[in-house]
Amino acid sequence: MERMRTESAAAHRWLLEKDHVHWSKAFFKDTAMCDMLCNNMCEAFNATILKARDKPIITLMEMISNSTFQVRGHADERYVVDIERRTCACNKWQLIGIPCIHGMSALMSSNRDPIQFIDNMYKKESFLSVYTPVIYGINGPSLWPKTNDKPL
Ligand SMILES: [Zn+2]
Repeated sequence: MERMRTESAAAHRWLLEKDHVHWSKAFFKDTAMCDMLCNNMCEAFNATILKARDKPIITLMEMISNSTFQVRGHADERYVVDIERRTCACNKWQLIGIPCIHGMSALMSSNRDPIQFIDNMYKKESFLSVYTPVIYGINGPSLWPKTNDKPL
């Protein structure tokens, strides 16, 4: 500490204000099995929970959970589901555009509305944009032109 004072009086004062168990290896507990005061894993975790860390625990977990799930199937097989990318390892979701049973499981466990994860091609707006210019209304039989042909 005397050497610290000669190097930087401000640093010396700053350290004196802190509890020595937090900055001196001589007072570190040996249960952590780590001689680093801080490591990248802690920094990454803190950066991830920054927006959510003042929330209740369930809200926090919902906010920091990413979109990837591991879902167990019937015969103990496991499938990776990414609900944001709308993919499942079984490939059904990608093929038909509707969440497969594994995708549904992931969506339900994360309290998301499955309807929002169905491909746009199944939505009314898509059908209307495709068929509106092709299908026209027709008049009833009373307005059809008369012919002399025998009715079918
Ligand atoms: Zn699947």
